[in-house]
Amino acid sequence: MHVLIVEDEIPLSKEVRSYLEKEGFSCEEAHTGRIASDKLFSNNYDLLLLDLGLPDYDGIDLLKESIANHSNIAVIILSARSALEDRIKGLNVGADDYLPKPFSLLELKSRIMAVMRRKHGIRANIITINKLEIDLDKRIVSSGGTLISLTRKEYDILSFLILNKNRVVTRLQISEHIWGDIIEENYNSNYIDVHIKNLRKKLSDYCEGEFLETVRGIGFQFIETE
Ligand code: CA
Repeated sequence: MHVLIVEDEIPLSKEVRSYLEKEGFSCEEAHTGRIASDKLFSNNYDLLLLDLGLPDYDGIDLLKESIANHSNIAVIILSARSALEDRIKGLNVGADDYLPKPFSLLELKSRIMAVMRRKHGIRANIITINKLEIDLDKRIVSSGGTLISLTRKEYDILSFLILNKNRVVTRLQISEHIWGDIIEENYNSNYIDVHIKNLRKKLSDYCEGEFLETVRGIGFQFIETE
């Protein structure tokens, strides 16, 4: 999952980033509204963590901009405890949740997981599909109690496809979700195909048939079987 942290308190921004990266998220930071706006213009993110109190930019304007340009982006507002009016305004213009400062990193992660579940219409952190059990919180995949050993990238790709099951996900979407900035060589290379091939191999003992379908020239689709 690719996250943009918009926060002008640099130590806080770095603390959030290092925590989320340890938890398996890929993160970028913007310490000014201007940089955030540029990043939002040129990249895609799954989640925006937005401090509304920025020195150079109206946080609510930035929120409106990001939602207008990325209809699927999830947004959690980070704001001073006293800024009730701003939080309400933020929720009214489309933020998914807010967290008053100071907050615990554990709570931040729970809120992120809850917001992402809601976006994908899932209630709990454990998804069962095609005899597989995916624990989104612990980032593990198992089948009938047997842990399936996946690399970090394999897990990221598989969970992303499963969250978008029965929908075609393009290579570009996968690349942005996993690697963040679109790096030309990642995007054009067969990296993703190699990971998909390995996933098929690792999961073939547990899932029957073609569940990771290649859609020629477009991308991939995880098919939920009966
Ligand atoms: Ca601030």
